[in-house]
Amino acid sequence: MVAIVMSLPRLNFANRRLRLIAILCLILGLAVFALLWLRQEADGFENLFSANYWAERSRGEDLYNPAEKFFKRGSRRLKEVCLTIDDGPHIASIGRILEVLHEQHVPATFFVVGSKVKQHPEFLRQMIEDGDEIGNHTEDHLRLDTLSPEEIRKELGFCEENVERACGHRMHLMRPPGMRFNAEVLKIADEMGYTIVGWNIGAKDFIPKKGVDKVPPTVQANLSTTPSMVAERVLKQAKNGVIILLHDEPTTADALPLIIDGLRADGYEFVSATEMMEQLPQHVVVQANPPIELHATTTSRTFIK
Ligand SMILES: [Zn+2]
Repeated sequence: MVAIVMSLPRLNFANRRLRLIAILCLILGLAVFALLWLRQEADGFENLFSANYWAERSRGEDLYNPAEKFFKRGSRRLKEVCLTIDDGPHIASIGRILEVLHEQHVPATFFVVGSKVKQHPEFLRQMIEDGDEIGNHTEDHLRLDTLSPEEIRKELGFCEENVERACGHRMHLMRPPGMRFNAEVLKIADEMGYTIVGWNIGAKDFIPKKGVDKVPPTVQANLSTTPSMVAERVLKQAKNGVIILLHDEPTTADALPLIIDGLRADGYEFVSATEMMEQLPQHVVVQANPPIELHATTTSRTFIK
């Protein structure tokens, strides 16, 4: 590159000013290239310019933070991804999602909402039978960092009870709605035996509902999405060790075969959240859903709504 620039006078450039401009353009191009590469390496600009992120990364805590029991991403050395599917079970899509995963032999980790589990407990049993994992996504999908300690315990506890009644298995994975948490949430989650699971790639597979979510029409138009758009977003951002955020939505059910085919074609393996944790350099072992005796589901905790 430098040799090319130095030979510029021989290319009959009119004067030194043109050569200077060419050198500046080259430096600018290299800087942009380096910046984009670093952004990719750091999983986004926010991390790239965060001293805290690089300090955590030097300790390996950008993958898993043992003090917070917070799993953030898989190993950068392994060509694998983890599909996480939030906010269900949703009757309009969960059947098809489970069918596709089962047919394709792809494990997924479902972060379920307790109040929805109560309506459709049958799907929870199927998740366990298929070898998928189930995690706590609270009872009513409330933002945990806005709640009192007692309310946080109830949001997690009600969801636990519904899942345990539905399938006879406990949960040890948790994802706070909107990834909103504070020190109190972390403390309570730890006391209740949870490991928090984050995510790295958002498929933006949700379509806000007019008038319900109070989303302005202009924003809504940008968020509206099709199955091929969802798949394209995921495939474009995929890289080693990412945790992918999907939602239990009809659009996602349609996009899932495209996502699975595309990622497989690019050479990625699918692993569950706990498999991904086990393969971290520090080998974090969590049993996602140990079985319990069905008759004991309400004996250990009593929550009154
Ligand atoms: Zn959610």
